[in-house]
Amino acid sequence: MKIDVSEIRKAKGRSEDFAGSEPDFLLDQQGIPISFHHIVVSGHALNTGKSVLVQGKISAKVDLQCSLCLRQFTLTVDLPFEETYRRTKDNVSQDEQEGHEPRVYQGDEIDLGEMIREELILSLPMKPVCQPDCRGLCPVCGQDLNVADCGCSRQIPDPRWAVLQKLLNDSDE
Ligand SMILES: [Zn+2]
Ligand SMILES: [Zn+2]
Repeated sequence: MKIDVSEIRKAKGRSEDFAGSEPDFLLDQQGIPISFHHIVVSGHALNTGKSVLVQGKISAKVDLQCSLCLRQFTLTVDLPFEETYRRTKDNVSQDEQEGHEPRVYQGDEIDLGEMIREELILSLPMKPVCQPDCRGLCPVCGQDLNVADCGCSRQIPDPRWAVLQKLLNDSDE
């Protein structure tokens, strides 16, 4: 999604609201496709003199696989963002480079697409779960325990307990 900054670029302090959408995209995470869709962005662009400060909100739907039961589910994402964009041909002096580097744009348009995709990917949970109390799969037969209990005996020893047990056994000798 692009925003036109031709008007606000003319004077420091000028600002403009914007709203739009970004095309769907897919991310391949170790063979598991993650689909981002219904990406809607709105916000505010301000000419701060040296650069354009863009603040706003990204909303999207993300189709993910649950890390516990492996079912597909849809996550709703609402993310605030704030980015600074500088025009490529403007000089960047050394003392301005502290902090994180501003993004660049060319001409009179800022393309927010790359920033939007990065923010969305960074927002993904490390271990997505379809619901807070997902029961996962039976480690014995693979049954989805959210659907039904399979009746397997799941007395899987806790590895921490096994270590402790070994220490106790060793100290007996
Ligand atoms: Zn799940
Ligand atoms: Zn089972």
